[in-house]
Amino acid sequence: MQTDILTPQLLRSAQSVLSFDQARELGERHGTPLLVVSKSKLVQTYRTMRDHLPGVELFYAAKANPNPFVLQTLYEEGCSVDVCSHGELIAAKQAGFDPAGMLHTHPCKTRQNLLDCYNEGVRLFVFDNEPELDKIKTHTPDVQLLLRLAMSADSSLINLSAKFGAHPREVVGLLVAARSRGLNVKGFSFHVGSQCLNPGDYRRVLERVRQCWDEAAEMGFELEVLDIGGGFPAPYRDSEMMTLATYCDSVSASLSEVFGDLPIRLIAEPGRGLVAECVTLVTQVLGKNLRSGLNWYIIDDGIYGSFSGKIFDHVDYNVIAENPFGRPLHPCVLAGPTCDSSDVVARDQMLPEMNVGDLLLVPTMGAYAGASACPFNGLPVAGSAMIA
Ligand SMILES: *Cc1c(COP(=O)(O)O)cnc(C)c1O
Repeated sequence: MQTDILTPQLLRSAQSVLSFDQARELGERHGTPLLVVSKSKLVQTYRTMRDHLPGVELFYAAKANPNPFVLQTLYEEGCSVDVCSHGELIAAKQAGFDPAGMLHTHPCKTRQNLLDCYNEGVRLFVFDNEPELDKIKTHTPDVQLLLRLAMSADSSLINLSAKFGAHPREVVGLLVAARSRGLNVKGFSFHVGSQCLNPGDYRRVLERVRQCWDEAAEMGFELEVLDIGGGFPAPYRDSEMMTLATYCDSVSASLSEVFGDLPIRLIAEPGRGLVAECVTLVTQVLGKNLRSGLNWYIIDDGIYGSFSGKIFDHVDYNVIAENPFGRPLHPCVLAGPTCDSSDVVARDQMLPEMNVGDLLLVPTMGAYAGASACPFNGLPVAGSAMIA
Protein backbone atom coordinates (compact mmCIF):
# COMPACT_ATOMS: atom_id res chain seq x y z
CA MET A 1 0.00 0.00 0.00
CA GLN A 2 1.26 3.47 -0.80
CA THR A 3 0.35 5.78 2.04
CA ASP A 4 -0.20 9.39 1.08
CA ILE A 5 2.24 11.77 2.61
CA LEU A 6 1.02 14.31 5.13
CA THR A 7 -2.69 13.57 4.75
CA PRO A 8 -4.94 14.28 7.72
CA GLN A 9 -5.72 11.20 9.75
CA LEU A 10 -9.07 9.98 10.96
CA LEU A 11 -7.75 6.62 11.94
CA ARG A 12 -4.10 6.23 12.78
CA SER A 13 -1.87 4.96 9.97
CA ALA A 14 1.81 5.08 9.00
CA GLN A 15 2.52 8.65 7.81
CA SER A 16 5.77 10.28 6.77
CA VAL A 17 6.72 13.29 8.92
CA LEU A 18 8.32 15.03 5.93
CA SER A 19 7.84 15.58 2.19
CA PHE A 20 10.20 14.43 -0.56
CA ASP A 21 11.32 18.04 -1.07
CA GLN A 22 12.29 18.27 2.60
CA ALA A 23 13.93 14.85 2.38
CA ARG A 24 16.08 15.96 -0.60
CA GLU A 25 17.17 19.07 1.23
CA LEU A 26 18.02 17.20 4.46
CA GLY A 27 19.68 14.42 2.50
CA GLU A 28 21.99 16.95 0.81
CA ARG A 29 22.83 18.54 4.13
CA HIS A 30 23.28 15.47 6.35
CA GLY A 31 23.67 12.55 3.94
CA THR A 32 21.62 9.37 3.94
CA PRO A 33 20.46 7.14 5.50
CA LEU A 34 18.91 9.71 7.82
CA LEU A 35 16.40 9.28 10.63
CA VAL A 36 14.37 12.47 10.72
CA VAL A 37 12.73 13.31 14.04
CA SER A 38 9.68 15.56 13.91
CA LYS A 39 9.59 17.63 17.08
CA SER A 40 5.98 18.70 16.54
CA LYS A 41 4.81 15.12 16.02
CA LEU A 42 6.59 13.98 19.17
CA VAL A 43 5.19 16.87 21.22
CA GLN A 44 1.71 16.23 19.86
CA THR A 45 1.90 12.51 20.70
CA TYR A 46 3.22 13.20 24.19
CA ARG A 47 0.47 15.71 24.92
CA THR A 48 -2.20 13.33 23.62
CA MET A 49 -0.98 10.63 26.00
CA ARG A 50 -0.66 13.06 28.90
CA ASP A 51 -4.16 14.48 28.36
CA HIS A 52 -5.87 11.13 27.79
CA LEU A 53 -4.20 9.33 30.68
CA PRO A 54 -5.10 11.82 33.41
CA GLY A 55 -3.43 11.15 36.74
CA VAL A 56 -0.83 8.87 35.16
CA GLU A 57 2.83 9.97 35.27
CA LEU A 58 4.56 9.19 31.97
CA PHE A 59 8.05 7.67 32.19
CA TYR A 60 9.35 7.38 28.63
CA ALA A 61 11.10 4.02 28.10
CA ALA A 62 14.47 5.21 26.77
CA LYS A 63 15.15 1.71 25.41
CA ALA A 64 12.80 2.46 22.49
CA ASN A 65 14.99 5.29 21.21
CA PRO A 66 17.73 7.02 23.23
CA ASN A 67 18.28 9.62 20.47
CA PRO A 68 19.20 12.99 22.04
CA PHE A 69 16.61 14.92 19.99
CA VAL A 70 13.88 12.60 21.29
CA LEU A 71 15.08 12.69 24.90
CA GLN A 72 15.57 16.49 24.92
CA THR A 73 12.13 17.14 23.49
CA LEU A 74 10.45 14.89 26.05
CA TYR A 75 12.48 16.49 28.83
CA GLU A 76 11.33 19.95 27.74
CA GLU A 77 7.74 18.72 27.76
CA GLY A 78 8.00 17.63 31.40
CA CYS A 79 7.99 13.89 30.73
CA SER A 80 9.90 11.54 33.06
CA VAL A 81 12.16 8.73 31.91
CA ASP A 82 12.62 5.01 32.53
CA VAL A 83 16.10 3.54 32.05
CA CYS A 84 17.53 0.02 32.17
CA SER A 85 21.25 0.72 32.24
CA HIS A 86 23.89 3.29 33.05
CA GLY A 87 24.25 3.95 29.31
CA GLU A 88 20.58 4.92 29.01
CA LEU A 89 20.87 6.95 32.21
CA ILE A 90 23.77 8.97 30.79
CA ALA A 91 21.90 9.61 27.53
CA ALA A 92 18.88 10.83 29.51
CA LYS A 93 21.02 12.90 31.88
CA GLN A 94 22.73 14.62 28.96
CA ALA A 95 19.27 15.53 27.66
CA GLY A 96 18.48 17.22 30.99
CA PHE A 97 16.77 14.53 33.10
CA ASP A 98 17.73 14.34 36.79
CA PRO A 99 18.64 10.77 37.79
CA ALA A 100 16.87 11.27 41.14
CA GLY A 101 13.57 11.29 39.25
CA MET A 102 14.34 8.33 36.98
CA LEU A 103 12.82 4.88 37.26
CA HIS A 104 15.16 1.94 36.71
CA THR A 105 13.09 -0.90 35.25
CA HIS A 106 15.57 -3.70 34.68
CA PRO A 107 14.43 -6.54 37.00
CA CYS A 108 17.76 -8.39 36.81
CA LYS A 109 20.66 -5.95 36.94
CA THR A 110 24.37 -6.51 37.12
CA ARG A 111 25.91 -5.25 40.35
CA GLN A 112 27.72 -2.59 38.32
CA ASN A 113 24.52 -1.41 36.62
CA LEU A 114 22.79 -1.16 40.01
CA LEU A 115 25.68 0.69 41.66
CA ASP A 116 26.38 3.06 38.76
CA CYS A 117 22.73 4.13 38.58
CA TYR A 118 22.42 4.37 42.36
CA ASN A 119 25.55 6.50 42.55
CA GLU A 120 24.05 8.85 39.94
CA GLY A 121 21.03 9.28 42.24
CA VAL A 122 18.39 6.79 41.04
CA ARG A 123 16.27 5.58 43.97
CA LEU A 124 13.37 3.69 42.38
CA PHE A 125 14.18 0.20 41.05
CA VAL A 126 12.31 -2.87 39.82
CA PHE A 127 12.85 -6.52 40.85
CA ASP A 128 11.11 -9.83 40.18
CA ASN A 129 13.20 -12.44 42.01
CA GLU A 130 14.77 -13.15 45.38
CA PRO A 131 18.47 -13.14 44.35
CA GLU A 132 17.91 -9.58 43.09
CA LEU A 133 16.73 -8.66 46.59
CA ASP A 134 20.02 -9.98 47.99
CA LYS A 135 21.91 -7.79 45.54
CA ILE A 136 19.87 -4.76 46.51
CA LYS A 137 20.16 -5.51 50.24
CA THR A 138 23.96 -5.75 49.96
CA HIS A 139 24.64 -2.72 47.77
CA THR A 140 21.73 -0.27 47.86
CA PRO A 141 19.40 -1.12 50.78
CA ASP A 142 17.80 2.35 51.00
CA VAL A 143 16.09 2.30 47.59
CA GLN A 144 12.39 1.97 46.83
CA LEU A 145 11.23 -1.03 44.84
CA LEU A 146 8.48 -2.06 42.47
CA LEU A 147 7.73 -5.77 42.05
CA ARG A 148 7.35 -6.63 38.36
CA LEU A 149 4.48 -9.03 37.71
CA ALA A 150 4.28 -11.33 34.68
CA MET A 151 1.13 -10.20 32.89
CA SER A 152 0.66 -10.54 29.16
CA ALA A 153 -2.18 -9.50 26.89
CA ASP A 154 -3.63 -11.61 24.07
CA SER A 155 -3.34 -8.88 21.46
CA SER A 156 0.31 -7.95 22.06
CA LEU A 157 2.78 -8.59 19.26
CA ILE A 158 5.74 -9.04 21.59
CA ASN A 159 5.45 -10.83 24.92
CA LEU A 160 7.42 -8.98 27.59
CA SER A 161 6.50 -11.42 30.34
CA ALA A 162 8.28 -14.40 28.78
CA LYS A 163 11.55 -13.45 30.45
CA PHE A 164 10.66 -11.06 33.26
CA GLY A 165 7.94 -10.76 35.86
CA ALA A 166 6.93 -12.78 38.91
CA HIS A 167 3.99 -15.15 38.67
CA PRO A 168 1.01 -13.98 40.76
CA ARG A 169 1.44 -16.97 43.09
CA GLU A 170 5.00 -15.82 43.89
CA VAL A 171 3.94 -12.31 44.87
CA VAL A 172 3.31 -12.78 48.57
CA GLY A 173 6.51 -14.82 48.98
CA LEU A 174 8.57 -12.09 47.32
CA LEU A 175 6.97 -9.33 49.39
CA VAL A 176 7.73 -11.31 52.56
CA ALA A 177 11.30 -11.91 51.34
CA ALA A 178 11.74 -8.16 50.80
CA ARG A 179 10.28 -7.32 54.22
CA SER A 180 12.53 -9.85 55.94
CA ARG A 181 15.52 -8.02 54.42
CA GLY A 182 14.20 -4.64 55.52
CA LEU A 183 13.61 -3.55 51.91
CA ASN A 184 10.91 -1.11 50.90
CA VAL A 185 8.51 -2.37 48.21
CA LYS A 186 6.29 0.51 47.08
CA GLY A 187 4.13 -1.23 44.52
CA PHE A 188 3.77 -3.31 41.39
CA SER A 189 4.77 -2.91 37.78
CA PHE A 190 3.88 -4.99 34.76
CA HIS A 191 4.08 -4.82 30.96
CA VAL A 192 1.19 -6.16 28.85
CA GLY A 193 3.59 -6.80 25.95
CA SER A 194 4.67 -4.48 23.21
CA GLN A 195 2.36 -3.37 20.38
CA CYS A 196 -0.76 -4.30 22.36
CA LEU A 197 -3.47 -3.73 19.76
CA ASN A 198 -6.54 -4.03 21.97
CA PRO A 199 -6.76 -1.58 24.89
CA GLY A 200 -9.50 -3.78 26.35
CA ASP A 201 -6.71 -6.20 27.31
CA TYR A 202 -5.63 -3.75 30.03
CA ARG A 203 -8.94 -4.28 31.78
CA ARG A 204 -8.37 -8.05 32.18
CA VAL A 205 -4.75 -7.60 33.19
CA LEU A 206 -5.60 -4.88 35.71
CA GLU A 207 -8.17 -7.17 37.30
CA ARG A 208 -5.51 -9.83 37.83
CA VAL A 209 -3.12 -7.22 39.22
CA ARG A 210 -5.86 -6.02 41.57
CA GLN A 211 -6.18 -9.55 42.98
CA CYS A 212 -2.45 -9.54 43.77
CA TRP A 213 -2.78 -6.05 45.25
CA ASP A 214 -5.62 -7.10 47.55
CA GLU A 215 -3.78 -10.24 48.60
CA ALA A 216 -0.77 -8.11 49.51
CA ALA A 217 -3.00 -5.70 51.45
CA GLU A 218 -4.46 -8.60 53.44
CA MET A 219 -0.91 -9.57 54.36
CA GLY A 220 -0.33 -6.07 55.70
CA PHE A 221 1.64 -4.63 52.77
CA GLU A 222 0.62 -1.06 52.11
CA LEU A 223 1.39 -0.55 48.44
CA GLU A 224 1.06 2.87 46.88
CA VAL A 225 2.47 2.75 43.34
CA LEU A 226 1.05 1.02 40.27
CA ASP A 227 3.16 1.08 37.11
CA ILE A 228 1.22 -0.11 34.05
CA GLY A 229 4.30 -0.32 31.80
CA GLY A 230 4.28 0.24 28.05
CA GLY A 231 2.52 -1.59 25.26
CA PHE A 232 0.82 1.37 23.56
CA PRO A 233 0.89 0.50 19.85
CA ALA A 234 2.07 2.35 16.74
CA PRO A 235 0.84 2.07 13.14
CA TYR A 236 3.10 0.11 10.81
CA ARG A 237 2.67 -1.19 7.30
CA ASP A 238 -0.92 -1.43 6.09
CA SER A 239 -2.22 -1.03 9.59
CA GLU A 240 -4.95 1.39 10.44
CA MET A 241 -5.77 1.61 14.08
CA MET A 242 -7.82 3.64 16.51
CA THR A 243 -6.36 7.00 17.42
CA LEU A 244 -4.01 7.20 20.38
CA ALA A 245 -6.53 9.36 22.23
CA THR A 246 -9.24 6.69 21.93
CA TYR A 247 -6.77 4.01 23.01
CA CYS A 248 -5.63 5.96 26.07
CA ASP A 249 -9.22 6.84 27.01
CA SER A 250 -9.96 3.13 27.15
CA VAL A 251 -6.91 2.37 29.33
CA SER A 252 -7.81 5.28 31.58
CA ALA A 253 -11.38 4.02 31.98
CA SER A 254 -10.07 0.57 32.95
CA LEU A 255 -7.74 2.12 35.50
CA SER A 256 -10.66 4.03 37.05
CA GLU A 257 -12.85 0.95 37.13
CA VAL A 258 -10.29 -1.39 38.65
CA PHE A 259 -8.10 0.88 40.80
CA GLY A 260 -10.18 4.08 41.03
CA ASP A 261 -11.09 3.46 44.68
CA LEU A 262 -7.43 3.60 45.81
CA PRO A 263 -5.47 6.85 46.29
CA ILE A 264 -2.35 5.57 44.57
CA ARG A 265 0.42 6.90 42.35
CA LEU A 266 0.00 5.75 38.75
CA ILE A 267 2.89 5.41 36.32
CA ALA A 268 3.11 4.32 32.67
CA GLU A 269 6.28 3.57 30.67
CA PRO A 270 5.37 4.20 27.02
CA GLY A 271 8.11 3.50 24.48
CA ARG A 272 6.85 2.67 21.01
CA GLY A 273 3.45 4.37 21.31
CA LEU A 274 5.13 7.64 22.21
CA VAL A 275 8.06 7.79 19.78
CA ALA A 276 7.60 5.41 16.83
CA GLU A 277 5.56 7.78 14.67
CA CYS A 278 7.72 10.87 15.10
CA VAL A 279 10.60 9.46 13.02
CA THR A 280 10.76 8.81 9.28
CA LEU A 281 13.78 7.24 7.62
CA VAL A 282 15.18 8.80 4.44
CA THR A 283 17.05 6.14 2.49
CA GLN A 284 18.52 6.22 -1.00
CA VAL A 285 18.64 3.78 -3.89
CA LEU A 286 22.33 3.05 -4.39
CA GLY A 287 22.13 0.24 -6.91
CA LYS A 288 19.71 -1.50 -9.23
CA ASN A 289 19.77 -4.88 -10.87
CA LEU A 290 17.25 -6.75 -13.02
CA ARG A 291 17.35 -10.35 -11.79
CA SER A 292 15.10 -12.94 -13.46
CA GLY A 293 12.74 -10.20 -14.59
CA LEU A 294 12.45 -8.68 -11.13
CA ASN A 295 13.97 -5.34 -10.16
CA TRP A 296 16.29 -5.49 -7.16
CA TYR A 297 17.02 -2.14 -5.58
CA ILE A 298 19.94 -1.92 -3.19
CA ILE A 299 19.29 0.85 -0.69
CA ASP A 300 21.66 2.44 1.82
CA ASP A 301 19.94 1.13 4.96
CA GLY A 302 19.00 -2.46 5.81
CA ILE A 303 18.27 -5.05 8.46
CA TYR A 304 21.60 -4.49 10.23
CA GLY A 305 20.74 -0.79 10.36
CA SER A 306 17.43 1.02 10.85
CA PHE A 307 15.43 -1.97 9.58
CA SER A 308 16.76 -4.05 12.50
CA GLY A 309 13.22 -3.79 13.85
CA LYS A 310 12.18 -6.23 11.13
CA ILE A 311 14.25 -8.87 12.91
CA PHE A 312 14.18 -7.93 16.60
CA ASP A 313 10.83 -6.19 16.75
CA HIS A 314 8.87 -8.32 14.23
CA VAL A 315 7.38 -5.32 12.46
CA ASP A 316 7.06 -4.56 8.76
CA TYR A 317 7.56 -1.07 7.44
CA ASN A 318 5.77 0.81 4.71
CA VAL A 319 8.19 2.10 2.07
CA ILE A 320 7.07 5.19 0.14
CA ALA A 321 8.49 6.16 -3.26
CA GLU A 322 7.89 9.52 -4.90
CA ASN A 323 5.24 9.08 -7.55
CA PRO A 324 3.46 12.36 -8.32
CA PHE A 325 2.28 11.29 -11.77
CA GLY A 326 0.93 7.91 -10.76
CA ARG A 327 3.46 5.81 -12.67
CA PRO A 328 2.61 2.11 -12.68
CA LEU A 329 3.68 0.07 -9.67
CA HIS A 330 5.72 -3.11 -9.99
CA PRO A 331 6.78 -5.85 -7.60
CA CYS A 332 10.44 -5.51 -6.61
CA VAL A 333 12.97 -6.50 -4.00
CA LEU A 334 14.45 -3.91 -1.66
CA ALA A 335 17.75 -5.02 -0.21
CA GLY A 336 20.08 -3.45 2.32
CA PRO A 337 23.67 -2.33 1.67
CA THR A 338 25.61 -5.14 3.40
CA CYS A 339 27.10 -8.14 1.59
CA ASP A 340 24.83 -10.51 3.51
CA SER A 341 22.20 -11.96 1.17
CA SER A 342 19.71 -12.18 4.05
CA ASP A 343 19.86 -8.37 4.24
CA VAL A 344 16.55 -7.94 2.42
CA VAL A 345 14.14 -5.27 3.59
CA ALA A 346 11.08 -6.15 1.50
CA ARG A 347 10.08 -8.58 -1.23
CA ASP A 348 6.42 -7.71 -1.47
CA GLN A 349 6.16 -3.95 -1.89
CA MET A 350 4.79 -2.48 -5.11
CA LEU A 351 6.83 0.53 -6.20
CA PRO A 352 7.26 2.60 -9.37
CA GLU A 353 10.44 2.14 -11.43
CA MET A 354 13.27 3.82 -9.53
CA ASN A 355 16.78 4.95 -10.37
CA VAL A 356 20.05 5.19 -8.47
CA GLY A 357 19.93 8.30 -6.29
CA ASP A 358 16.14 8.24 -5.78
CA LEU A 359 14.99 8.67 -2.20
CA LEU A 360 12.52 6.51 -0.28
CA LEU A 361 10.65 7.47 2.88
CA VAL A 362 9.93 4.93 5.62
CA PRO A 363 7.54 6.09 8.35
CA THR A 364 7.18 4.80 11.93
CA MET A 365 10.91 4.36 12.41
CA GLY A 366 11.10 5.97 15.86
CA ALA A 367 11.10 2.88 18.10
CA TYR A 368 13.31 -0.22 18.12
CA ALA A 369 14.75 0.71 14.71
CA GLY A 370 17.83 2.94 14.99
CA ALA A 371 18.10 1.86 18.65
CA SER A 372 19.17 -1.67 17.70
CA ALA A 373 21.16 -0.82 14.54
CA CYS A 374 24.81 -1.87 14.27
CA PRO A 375 27.68 -0.96 11.92
CA PHE A 376 28.07 -4.49 10.46
CA ASN A 377 30.28 -4.72 7.38
CA GLY A 378 31.86 -1.41 8.36
CA LEU A 379 28.81 0.46 7.18
CA PRO A 380 27.82 3.32 9.47
CA VAL A 381 24.35 3.42 11.04
CA ALA A 382 21.94 6.15 9.97
CA GLY A 383 22.50 9.68 11.17
CA SER A 384 19.69 11.75 12.61
CA ALA A 385 18.28 15.23 12.28
CA MET A 386 15.38 17.05 13.85
CA ILE A 387 12.78 19.13 12.03
CA ALA A 388 10.14 21.38 13.52
C1 LIG B 1 10.52 -2.09 26.55
C2 LIG B 1 9.90 -1.66 27.81
C3 LIG B 1 8.95 -0.62 27.84
C4 LIG B 1 8.42 0.05 26.61
O1 LIG B 1 7.53 -0.79 25.96
P1 LIG B 1 6.68 -0.31 24.68
O2 LIG B 1 5.91 -1.51 24.33
O3 LIG B 1 7.65 0.11 23.65
O4 LIG B 1 5.82 0.81 25.12
C5 LIG B 1 8.45 -0.23 29.06
N1 LIG B 1 8.84 -0.82 30.20
C6 LIG B 1 9.76 -1.82 30.22
C7 LIG B 1 10.15 -2.41 31.51
C8 LIG B 1 10.30 -2.28 29.03
O5 LIG B 1 11.20 -3.28 29.05
